Amino acid sequence: MEMCKSVYEKIIEHSRREMPLEACGYLGGKGRTVVEAYSLTNIDQSGEHFSFDPKEQFDAVLTMRKKKQRAVAVYHSHPETPARPSQEDIRLAIDPEIIYVIVSLAAAEPEVKAFRIVKQEVTEEPVVVIDGLSTEEPENWEKQWNVKNSR
Ligand SMILES: [Zn+2]
Repeated sequence: MEMCKSVYEKIIEHSRREMPLEACGYLGGKGRTVVEAYSLTNIDQSGEHFSFDPKEQFDAVLTMRKKKQRAVAVYHSHPETPARPSQEDIRLAIDPEIIYVIVSLAAAEPEVKAFRIVKQEVTEEPVVVIDGLSTEEPENWEKQWNVKNSR
């Protein structure tokens, strides 16, 4: 999967901020590229698992729809374990269409990995961090990128 650099940085920053709890959220995409991170509250308030705040989740889905983005991925952090789906992550991964992104802060350098989990079977998806240009919707893209950078 392709991920805008701004998104990559945002999910790492969010994960660090939530330490020692797990951070979580959605990643909205255009075409094949993740363009925006929606950080959500982990109502489990746990360092080992997460649940989205349902109200925030609903709002994020609406916002994505409005912006013509697709919920490409769900991300969460592993404060103390590697960027690999846990047994529980695998058990709870019921959507074969969704990519599961894990941010690990276990090592000195943060690690971001992506997985598809279909029928308990885990396949890693390479994460390609890009600077924010899409081949599919150049106009939209440019607009979004400029807005982000002018803030
Ligand atoms: Zn996990």
